[in-house]
Amino acid sequence: SRAQAMQVESSPDVSYEDIGGLEEQLVEVREAVEEPLLNAQQFADVGIEPPSGVLLHGPPGTGKTMLAKAVANETDATFIKMAGSELVRKFIGEGARLVRDLFELASERQPAIIFIDEIDAIAAKRTESKTSGDAEVQRTMMQLLSEMDGFDDRGEIRIIAATNRFDMLDRAILRPGRFDRLIEVPNPDIEGRERILEIHTEEMNLADDVDLAAFAAETEGLSGAEIASLTTEAGMFAIRDDRTVVEQADFHDALAKIDQDEETGSQPVA
Ligand code: ATP
Repeated sequence: SRAQAMQVESSPDVSYEDIGGLEEQLVEVREAVEEPLLNAQQFADVGIEPPSGVLLHGPPGTGKTMLAKAVANETDATFIKMAGSELVRKFIGEGARLVRDLFELASERQPAIIFIDEIDAIAAKRTESKTSGDAEVQRTMMQLLSEMDGFDDRGEIRIIAATNRFDMLDRAILRPGRFDRLIEVPNPDIEGRERILEIHTEEMNLADDVDLAAFAAETEGLSGAEIASLTTEAGMFAIRDDRTVVEQADFHDALAKIDQDEETGSQPVA
C-alpha cells in the first residue's frame, strides 16, 4: 500500500545545525529548494522557473537524507520519502502507480518535499544495470519523468533525489526541467569531521583529555555516518569498562574496531 511504500513526516526533526560540514551544499540546497518554497512570488516577479529537481550525489552516509529532511523542517514542508530500491524490489508491478500516488500525496500535503533515495534503482542507463532493461522499471522511470515534466502547475512541491551511483544514471533524468541542479555531497574534510564529532558528542559525557580536533585528523576517508557510529562505539567502550566518562582512548579503540570490522568484512552500524 501507499503507506508502506512512502515514509511521510509532517516536519522532520533535523535542522541545519545538525549537519556537519557541507556549508556550500547547504547554500545550494537552500537556494534551489527553500527559496522557491518561501518566495514563490519573487520567482514569478522575476519571471523565471525555479529549478525543478535537485540531485544529491556522493558516497553513502554523507548526509544527503539529512539535507533533504532539514530543508523540509526549515520550510515547514511535508517530507515524503520513497526509496528507489524498494520500488523495484518490493512493489513489483506497482512502480508507476506509486510514483503517481507520490505526486498526488505531495500535492494534497503541500508545501511538500519529495525525496527519492537511490534514484539509480529506477533511473539507471540501460547498459549498466540488469534491472533497468526491465520494462517495469522503465515504466516507473517514464512515470517519474512525466510527473516532473508536468510540474509547473503543481504549486509548492520540490523534488530532491539522491544517489551513490551518479555514473550509472540515465542522462534523460538530468535534462533541463528535470534533475537540473546537481549537488555533490562528498565525504567530510577535516573541519567537517571535527564538526560532525562535536555534533554527535554533544550529549556525551567527555573526559577532559578528549581532543576532537586531533581525532578528526585520524579519521580521514570516513563518512559522516561512520563518524557518528564511532562516537557511539566510543561510549560502548566506556560502558564495557564500567565508566560514565568517555576518554580519548575510547575513541581510539572505536576506530581500531571499525578498521578491524572492515578487514573482516562486517558492516559498521550506520
Ligand atoms: P545513504 O546514501 O546511505 O542513504 P545519506 O548520504 O543519505 O546516506 P544520511 O542518511 O543523511 O546519509 O546520514 C546517515 C546518518 O549519519 C545521519 O543520520 C547522521 O547521524 C550521520 N551523518 C551523516 N552525515 C552527517 C553530517 N554531515 N553531519 C552530521 N551527521 C551526519
